[in-house]
Amino acid sequence: MTSADELVIRTAELLAAHDPAATEPLEFLRARFDAGLAWVHFPPGLGGLGAPRALQAVVDAELAAAGAPDNDPRRIGIGLGMAAPTILRYGTEEQKRRFLRPLWTGEEVWCQLFSEPGAGSDLAALATRAVRDGDGPDAGWTVDGQKVWTSSAHLARWAILLARTDPDVPKHQGISYFVCDMTDPGVDVRPLRQLTGEAEFNEVFLTGVRIPDAHRLGAVGEGWRIAQTTLNNERVAIGGQRTPREGGLIGILAETWRRNPELRTHELHQRLLQGWTDAEVLRLTGERLRQQLAVGQPGPEGAAAKLAFARLAQELTGLEVELLAEQGLAYGDWTMSRPELVDFTGRDAGYRYLRAKGNSIEGGSSEILRNIIAERVLGLPAEPRSDKDVPWKESAR
Ligand SMILES: Cc1cc2nc3c(=O)[nH]c(=O)nc-3n(C[C@H](O)[C@H](O)[C@H](O)COP(=O)(O)OP(=O)(O)OC[C@H]3O[C@@H](n4cnc5c(N)ncnc54)[C@H](O)[C@@H]3O)c2cc1C
Repeated sequence: MTSADELVIRTAELLAAHDPAATEPLEFLRARFDAGLAWVHFPPGLGGLGAPRALQAVVDAELAAAGAPDNDPRRIGIGLGMAAPTILRYGTEEQKRRFLRPLWTGEEVWCQLFSEPGAGSDLAALATRAVRDGDGPDAGWTVDGQKVWTSSAHLARWAILLARTDPDVPKHQGISYFVCDMTDPGVDVRPLRQLTGEAEFNEVFLTGVRIPDAHRLGAVGEGWRIAQTTLNNERVAIGGQRTPREGGLIGILAETWRRNPELRTHELHQRLLQGWTDAEVLRLTGERLRQQLAVGQPGPEGAAAKLAFARLAQELTGLEVELLAEQGLAYGDWTMSRPELVDFTGRDAGYRYLRAKGNSIEGGSSEILRNIIAERVLGLPAEPRSDKDVPWKESAR
């Protein structure tokens, strides 16, 4: 097994062969991937070395100290956090070799075509249809439907897509999982302006989109099971992010507190301390969660991390606005824009406060996460689901 010392040596070799000061960032990132130092827990040949996931921090620290460029995870979070582990687990060798390298380097941005106007919390009810045509190497699928709330679709080259391939069986059974080319002429991406004023997400209309069968991920009809890998990873990606101590939202809030002694009250101080403690507990729990993960296979416990993250993000951003009093009500910029990044901490206090509202909806709403924890972690009785065994086309929608 690769040790921390070995990773330090390999990182030094990479830096010696590709001086970050003299190498194009993309060239450096490709070389890092090829050296197995991209995500060390991935297999050799696919950007990793089969090393324990916890050792990634060793490589990251060495590279940061040397001034090496990173792949800007805020720009490619859906690819890194959701598409990659799913492709790794369910993709063919050809799919892994085609997609993972440009995904990690950031050359190709990914988005997630899951939610629909009639299928959010009840995702298995989705109605986008994929109809098979042809046989043999020319076989493919024609996809028609509408997706919504698709973050970064305006930047994406590829999408992970869920579509219904069999309407005659119960809803969870008739879904398949595809990789959709966002440059197909049948893909129409329209911005959706959100609470913050900008359009980070979109609605996406799919009209006669042709997907080769070679871009199907896993078996036909297995889409729901495969999507669980994506969704569990999404919750860890949102709720279990690696942050330094007093980093992220609590770091910003603590800094605001230190800079504005005149705004302090005893009551705000107590709430700040409570928030600081909660943030530290969440950070350490996230660290433990990430270290326990087998590649690509987090379980339902990621739901708890995401639930706690959303609650804390809303508390901390609310406290920051309160602390800043009337200054906290000022909002920097309402100009409609289509951001390049999904950023929970950027801009000003008003932006953070408004953006945090989405944290308890994206990646599964807090109510749905509580259901998951109740049923799959605590073993409590399941919610009644009357349409579970009814063919999808006969279910009430
Ligand atoms: C910022 C942001 C980014 C997003 N990005 C993406 C993306 O990139 N790709 C993508 O596919 N989707 C994305 N989403 C969509 C997100 O996954 C859905 O909004 C979410 O799953 C909820 O679905 P819904 O909006 O249809 O709400 P609904 O499912 O209609 O829920 C409405 C309310 O009812 C509650 N509710 C529903 N069912 C139950 C139940 N059984 N028990 C208790 N309460 C229930 C919900 O908790 C919620 O409060 C994004 C959302 C946001 C806010």
